[in-house]
Amino acid sequence: MSTTTRDVSVFGDGISYFNQAADLLELDSSMRRILTHPSRQIIFSIPFQRDTGDFEVYTGYRVQYNFARGPAKGGIRYHPGVTLDEVTALAFWMTWKCAVVDLPFGGGKGGVTCDPSQLSTNELERITRRYAAELVEVVGPDKDVPAPDVNTTPQIMAWFMDTYSMHVRQNVPGVVTGKPLEIGGSRGRTEATGRGVTICALDQMAAMGLDPKKVSIVVQGFGNVGMYAAKLFAERGCKVVGISDVTGAYYNDKGIDIAHAVEYVGANRTLDGFKGGDKISNSELLTSDCDVLVPAALEKVFTVENASKVKAKLIVEGANGPTTPEADRIFNEKGIVVIPDIMANAGGVTVSYFEWAQDRMGYFWKESEVNARLEETLLENLHQLQKLAKTHNTTLRVAAYQLAIDRVVRTSKLRGIYA
Ligand code: GLU
Repeated sequence: MSTTTRDVSVFGDGISYFNQAADLLELDSSMRRILTHPSRQIIFSIPFQRDTGDFEVYTGYRVQYNFARGPAKGGIRYHPGVTLDEVTALAFWMTWKCAVVDLPFGGGKGGVTCDPSQLSTNELERITRRYAAELVEVVGPDKDVPAPDVNTTPQIMAWFMDTYSMHVRQNVPGVVTGKPLEIGGSRGRTEATGRGVTICALDQMAAMGLDPKKVSIVVQGFGNVGMYAAKLFAERGCKVVGISDVTGAYYNDKGIDIAHAVEYVGANRTLDGFKGGDKISNSELLTSDCDVLVPAALEKVFTVENASKVKAKLIVEGANGPTTPEADRIFNEKGIVVIPDIMANAGGVTVSYFEWAQDRMGYFWKESEVNARLEETLLENLHQLQKLAKTHNTTLRVAAYQLAIDRVVRTSKLRGIYA
């Protein structure tokens, strides 16, 4: 099955980045062929009952891209735009993300094509349980470990874990991460992706001589990644001048009161009607005045159309795949530094790894310990990228792929290809 035929293929973007690094690594054609194909793609129907009594059928996906370094790992996305191409791209990126931060995992991703804002809690539970039941044979702590992604929550992970545990007749908390604390979740997991974004951003700002107390930051997206990133930037004394969600963008050159924005979303679900900044469009936000720009929503927000208008000096990719290869080239020409997604948003899966390890031990860590280990893991690997990029005079993205591909290739060669 082809996953690269659509001219807007997200997986195609991923392959293009992979090839740039593979060329520099002089990767042989056999390994290249193997690593540009997903190990397993699963598509299934999810019939479920609406609260009205009628049945509907949604489509579910799980792509297990690579197992060389360990069980597949990656979130489950509930979104109307979910396709096999997107899930494959995201599973592909999980493979490199886990390798960049040296976790003992391969890459996977799942999704259901649906609009959760149109579903009741009971409907979401039924969809999730059926989704989990379809995957019982192929997921598990040593096979494939899902987690939250766009529009999926700790509660959804709890239903997934319960359904799997009921099927296998024993309690298996390590089958998913991002669970509520009460049932084997890890302290610090919810904010981990946003925390990782700020850790990477602050470190890179220091490397570029940018004073965190003087920079202006724009965060696109106010979900689990963007909201916590904005909150943690503000707590570190940085000025966040722009935020956004699906309802629009809000800009204030004096700085937005992020604590107030978080409270506002808590009370109103979205930023709609937020008065803490001037309302502008989402596309205006991306090219507005700022030093640091954090895309923290979906793929393909930076394209040939807008990349040359971006004013930021540093882009920190909280989202997966926000920059098309054409836009990336423009950023590089303009001297805009990009911390790529597979590094910048790896904080989430890093704490997922800690959660999986804690579940297996049955011993849970303090939040300060989780956060300290997270920072150590991210900085150790980010510093390797910075060094690699300097030595080879490449971008951080190319360096990240080089490091990740090299790690995956090493394990693949040690294990050998079973053919
Ligand atoms: N969905 C997150 C990501 O894209 C987290 C994945 C995980 O924790 O397994 O990195």
